[in-house]
Amino acid sequence: QGKLYLVPTPIGNLEDITIRAKNILSQADYIAAEDTRTSGILLEKLGIHNQMISFHKYNSKQRAPELIELMQKGATIAEISDAGMPVISDPGFVLVQECIKNDIPVVPLPGPSAFATALIASGFDAQPFTYYGFIPRKNSEQKEFLQEIKLSHATSIFYEAPHRLVKTLKVMQECLGGNRQIVAARELTKIHEEFVRGSVDELVDHFTQTAPRGEFVILVSPNEDEPEQLSWEELVKLVDQEVVRG
Ligand code: SAM
Repeated sequence: QGKLYLVPTPIGNLEDITIRAKNILSQADYIAAEDTRTSGILLEKLGIHNQMISFHKYNSKQRAPELIELMQKGATIAEISDAGMPVISDPGFVLVQECIKNDIPVVPLPGPSAFATALIASGFDAQPFTYYGFIPRKNSEQKEFLQEIKLSHATSIFYEAPHRLVKTLKVMQECLGGNRQIVAARELTKIHEEFVRGSVDELVDHFTQTAPRGEFVILVSPNEDEPEQLSWEELVKLVDQEVVRG
């Protein structure tokens, strides 16, 4: 019977590919890749020349049944994204669901992911944490999202693009206040890896003076305030949410 392997790839440093990942990629009948050009470069460096099939968020619904059919006929497929873990803010979810529905084994390989790499060096408690993926782009949705983070007693983690970072930090200033501690983890595992730690106010100043470049993970410290210190409006909102959830 065929199988689906979920194979993480480096988020910057090529040496972070695991021996097992390399073996699975070189043994798979097909490599389903988010971007065959980007992955082609990685596979070339690893000396792997197996057949690639394009599999990204715009074709995943249509392509998934085709891949399922191949696996039902006995093929092994290794799914990779451009960088890091498939499924984590990347394609793969639909295929995993379809495999489960069709009793096809799904074998996940451990490996690099930007959010976990950032979390362990952030200095914030890793238990509990919440990973949100990309922060919403729309201002109104961003504010609602930050309202949840404001109250959260977990370390909150999200991704943001460099060209939107200063604007987002300013919305954070408005919603979280200037004193909340945050970390911007930049270019992880790469030459310019950097952790910018400080209050929201300090990071706004920093990135206003030094334009953000490269890839970023943003982490927000847990809300250390006691629940009774919440404002009246926040309490009403919480009660409303509970009533709505039932
Ligand atoms: N699947 C990936 C993972 O496991 O982390 C995430 C893919 S998502 C499309 C890409 C985003 O992840 C980037 O925009 C950035 O926010 C974050 N990211 C990826 N690599 C990174 C790195 N080396 N340093 C910091 N952030 C990174």
